[in-house]
Amino acid sequence: MNTHHEGLLPGRATGRAGTPPQTAERGLLAALSLEDKVRLLTGADNWRTCPLPAIGLRAMVVSDGPAGVRGVTMDERNPAASLPCPSALGATWDPALVQTLAAALGTEARSKGVDVLLAPTINVMRTPLSGRGFESFGEDPVLISRLAVAFVVGLHQAGVAAAVKHFVGNDSETGRWTYDARIAGHVLRELYLVPFEACAREADVDLVMTGYNKVNGITMTENGPLLEHVLKEEWGFTGVALSDWHAARSTVATAAAGLDLAMPGPAGPWGAKLVAAVRAGAIGEDAVDAKVLRILRLARRVGALGTAGPALDGTPLDGTPLDGTAPDGTAPDDRARDGGAPNGLGPVLADPALLRRCAAAAFTLLRNERAALPLDPGTVRSLAVIGPNAVSPVTQGGGSATVPQVSVSTPAGALTQALAGLARVTVRPGCVTWTIVPEPPRHALRDPDTGEPGVRIEFRAEDGTLISAEHRGATMFTWWDGLPEGIGWGGRGTIVLRTCYLAAHDGPYVIGAGGVGQLTLTVNGIEVAAGHTDVPADPVEAMVRPGEIRATVYLPADREAEIGVRLRPDDWPQGPVAIRLGLVPAPDDDAMLSEAVEAARAADAAVVVVGSAPATESEGFDRPGLALPGRQDELVRRVAAVNDRTIVVVNAGMPVLMPWADEVAAAGYAWLPGQAMGAALADVLLGQAEPAGRLPVTIPAAEADCPVLHAVPEAGRLEYREGLLIGYRGYDRAGTRPRFPFGHGLGYTTWAYESAAADTPMLAPDGDLGVSVVLRNTGPRTGREVIQAYLEPPAADPGRPVRALAAFTAVTAAPGEHATARLTVPARAFARYDEAAGSWVRPSGEFIVRIGRSSADLPLLLRVKSW
Ligand code: BGC
Repeated sequence: MNTHHEGLLPGRATGRAGTPPQTAERGLLAALSLEDKVRLLTGADNWRTCPLPAIGLRAMVVSDGPAGVRGVTMDERNPAASLPCPSALGATWDPALVQTLAAALGTEARSKGVDVLLAPTINVMRTPLSGRGFESFGEDPVLISRLAVAFVVGLHQAGVAAAVKHFVGNDSETGRWTYDARIAGHVLRELYLVPFEACAREADVDLVMTGYNKVNGITMTENGPLLEHVLKEEWGFTGVALSDWHAARSTVATAAAGLDLAMPGPAGPWGAKLVAAVRAGAIGEDAVDAKVLRILRLARRVGALGTAGPALDGTPLDGTPLDGTAPDGTAPDDRARDGGAPNGLGPVLADPALLRRCAAAAFTLLRNERAALPLDPGTVRSLAVIGPNAVSPVTQGGGSATVPQVSVSTPAGALTQALAGLARVTVRPGCVTWTIVPEPPRHALRDPDTGEPGVRIEFRAEDGTLISAEHRGATMFTWWDGLPEGIGWGGRGTIVLRTCYLAAHDGPYVIGAGGVGQLTLTVNGIEVAAGHTDVPADPVEAMVRPGEIRATVYLPADREAEIGVRLRPDDWPQGPVAIRLGLVPAPDDDAMLSEAVEAARAADAAVVVVGSAPATESEGFDRPGLALPGRQDELVRRVAAVNDRTIVVVNAGMPVLMPWADEVAAAGYAWLPGQAMGAALADVLLGQAEPAGRLPVTIPAAEADCPVLHAVPEAGRLEYREGLLIGYRGYDRAGTRPRFPFGHGLGYTTWAYESAAADTPMLAPDGDLGVSVVLRNTGPRTGREVIQAYLEPPAADPGRPVRALAAFTAVTAAPGEHATARLTVPARAFARYDEAAGSWVRPSGEFIVRIGRSSADLPLLLRVKSW
């Protein structure tokens, strides 16, 4: 019999200093002038804090993010390991695996000179339309908390600080810079604050990033009640509260509210204005001191504070102005810009085998009729691999979570490779879903000047003079800074992308030129399109789906065409500069659909990979609806009609509608699985790995069933009217059956839940409850089962969930084997927040603990009493 215990190995890496005696930091503080104290409170640039060499303080480097370490530029020459997105990690329900992965991410960060990772995102999936939902771990605060704590602890083990974000109520993107999330006090406490509280109290997290939004009328960077009173005083958070990028928009209100670090810099609302406010008595110097102490403590923890420098005399240390320009001595720490390690070695990217294992562990098998999966190459002699995402998968979400990937394994490529010599594989995309023209394959491009594969980027002055040029290997470029003087941010210069493209076959091609500003597109020197694109509603859109001009041009296969994109960026202070080239054969959906259906008809089995279109799941905007884009539903139905072994794989970070779910043999979710997508999918579909995922979010049957669908502010307000009833809690309360319930996932074996026992029938005051569950693997293979415990309160209350997830753990057992799972339902799970009393109270009466394999499949029941 196997006995399993939940739990992590908390702790900080050796070499990562623990909490230092505050006296050391106080000594440094005492030597600083007000100007130098204030200098430390604003970034030196986009990704660095201000150094103060005289006290032995170097700049700390920060980087996004939750699915890979991007570093300080978005540059294909400094690629990053691309992890499964956080909703995929949510699907693992496996804190130990997440901790291991985060430690690998931390090691990569360290090797790139990064001290602080701007991750994990621990907002809640309130609506399935949330553009940034893929960056969350799920719709349940207990699941999010367990994985968030594991993530933070994993980073700490590698000596990297975590910045959990975005505190709080930033659960959707539409109007995120300004909306006022109206959330009842007990709902904040019981849902949205829970993961932040867990990271502060259990993981001793080093930074908390405040959102752009307001909560209950107060902008989060100015939200004293939540920052000072709840986060710092009540939870004992000793770290740094930093602003989201450009979120600090006032001087005194932010400084007084407990915000410690305004990012980015060197401009910002503090600097000289804050010095003046202190001198004028608008805010006490002690408030500034408290912030500096927190920043110095962080610096000590990440190893940015060495031995103290020369004695200080109270004059500003470097004499540079407080605002507007980066102070001397903050010249970019080039190890981070180059992706180089502090010790001179190259970056240590996270292990591809680990990424592949995680992507497979996240794969969530939702339906598997007649054991359609795993595919047995002995009986499947021909396989049709179909779908737009089989050929061009969406492996990561858009926005600050995006990294320049080292490589991508596609489902079509990986399945073809895995079945070589075993089965005949045909690949058909079936339809297109793009709304911005996809980037061309890099192997089809050649730098016109050097002949190397890739493109030429030229930076030109307003009069056209060449300032500089470089060879690059990408077709989408984003700069937050670092452009030659006079280009972008008010400059009148231009960026030109030139490349020679060799078409695979004669025919019409769609060419798109993207960027924010005035664009011109040329083919062989002839202008084929020109126009001006608008500044998008959110700056992040510029790096995800900048406005585009297009032309359709006939290209021959035997002659290269020289393509040119010229951009004069608009003057747009907060936005990045981006330029992009898209180029694809002009699509013919009818023909593509017919070809896919014919391939499926001729094959023993069909794998159809459908999902999100590129640039539709992203920071900066929400999704317009839950339906699969393009003609993908029709594609699935037509394939299933001709092949009764049709297996559908959904490649999306958030729920989509699956109206054909009952018509296909098998269906599962691959999420946005990062670079290892294809290889991991082949492992799962061919039975080399178990699809171990469980849904971290409910998959609705219809949009109208969602407890919360849209997240569009009304007159600037986002009313969280549903209170506690989001996700499965809302479905249970309404008695609505979703397409697939929260917690659901099949694996390749079956389980019998035999018995459960509580350690005590009577809860001790403020006591946790230990529960043992005995189950048996009744299927043909060794498998992993996630055991979920949901708690029902003594008295029904229509405003509260029928039941809520209280604990989970997992066991692994061989066929026929029993396993005993140990779960701990924490005391907090029995309590509710009493706003009037300002405290947690536990109702008396009988609680029911239901145990099983999803929120809708709970065969075991326990009763415990609370006095
Ligand atoms: C995002 C943050 C991110 C920051 C820096 C903001 O737009 O909301 O999550 O860390 O940019 O890229």
